[in-house]
Amino acid sequence: MNPSYESFFLEQLDKIEKQQLTRHLRRFDGPNQCETLIEGRKNILLSSNHYLGLGTDEDAKRKANEAINQFGIGSGGSRLTTGNSSLHEQLEEAIARFKGNERTLLFSSGYLANVGVISSVVGKGDVIFSDEYNHASIIDGCRLSRAKTVIYSHCNMESLERALKEEQTSGKKLIVTDGVFSMDGDIAPLPEIKSLARQYEAMVMVDDAHGTGVLGKLGKGTAEHFGIEDVDITVGTMSKALGTEGGFVTGSSHLIEYLKNRARTFIFQTALSPGVIGATLAVIEKLMKQPEIVHKLQWNAAYLRNSLTKKGFNVLEGETAIIPLIIGGAKETLQFSARLEERGVFAPGIRPPTVPEGTSRIRITVMATHSKEQLDQAIDIFTDVGKELGII
Ligand SMILES: *Cc1c(COP(=O)(O)O)cnc(C)c1O
Repeated sequence: MNPSYESFFLEQLDKIEKQQLTRHLRRFDGPNQCETLIEGRKNILLSSNHYLGLGTDEDAKRKANEAINQFGIGSGGSRLTTGNSSLHEQLEEAIARFKGNERTLLFSSGYLANVGVISSVVGKGDVIFSDEYNHASIIDGCRLSRAKTVIYSHCNMESLERALKEEQTSGKKLIVTDGVFSMDGDIAPLPEIKSLARQYEAMVMVDDAHGTGVLGKLGKGTAEHFGIEDVDITVGTMSKALGTEGGFVTGSSHLIEYLKNRARTFIFQTALSPGVIGATLAVIEKLMKQPEIVHKLQWNAAYLRNSLTKKGFNVLEGETAIIPLIIGGAKETLQFSARLEERGVFAPGIRPPTVPEGTSRIRITVMATHSKEQLDQAIDIFTDVGKELGII
């Protein structure tokens, strides 16, 4: 590489390292399941996004293989050219049935779904109202849309209403929020957001990446949690609770037809591969037949959250599978996480700029498949390390 550019990268890396913000990849030698091999060592995994523990489901693996045998390993094109198969259509129908929406459109990831939807449903002259803790893919979608973006305080309905009042526009208004926030694990106040949207004539879009398969009696997500039937636009991902990968949007027929014609991340992306689609079909079928998997996840989350609180840790309250254990300082948090790993529990520390200064945390996530014994063992290790480091 051109030496002057090489030195640019070196200088930047040096700067990141001086701020102690260098990111490193960790190597898994096995699948994301309750207990797994990380760089050759066995750990209880308490940080996977595969909340339902279905990433290693035998039926899903078999369905993935069958799909590959029938359709091959790749889709061969974008959905609008040569990449659309009966599998894709079956999965869209299955997700619409599961979520209880009119129609569904698949995207290659949740990230691309957010970017594609936001940048196509609003544009110049429109206004987006976005929660300050929204996911990076929402932020990027807002930027690409060229609509004016107004950030409101996290889950703060007074702040949202003030913004809605102040922003006079003859264009469209879109309120966009995570359903479940990825770092705090709290739930957006959807009933209040919907009622403000009605009052100020805005659309509502919910990114339910961490709500799908987690919240509600049937695991349909944030809307079910609140008993709400109609959200204008819902985005989801198959990469979290559902254990595979890919994103989707659910909503009305007209919305879906519009996205097929306008969402650039749909139009110009190769369709998802048959194996992924086959596996996801099996997972959704299982979830609809056995909602008790979701109940087990909810039980595990409540048990772990309550037990750690009782031990004296500062755990954020909540009802989701994301359990943030606040330590405060970035250095102490990394030390805590490293000690956990030495003792056989994998739960990484999260620090600024991902979370606000002074709120560095261990971001624990639980799976439906963790046994009570595994959770108890982990709680004991957290307690030992907490005492050792003077946190509790
Ligand atoms: C993970 C995540 C996404 C992105 O989903 P992918 O399918 O991984 O691209 C979007 N929004 C939120 C809130 C997420 O947590």
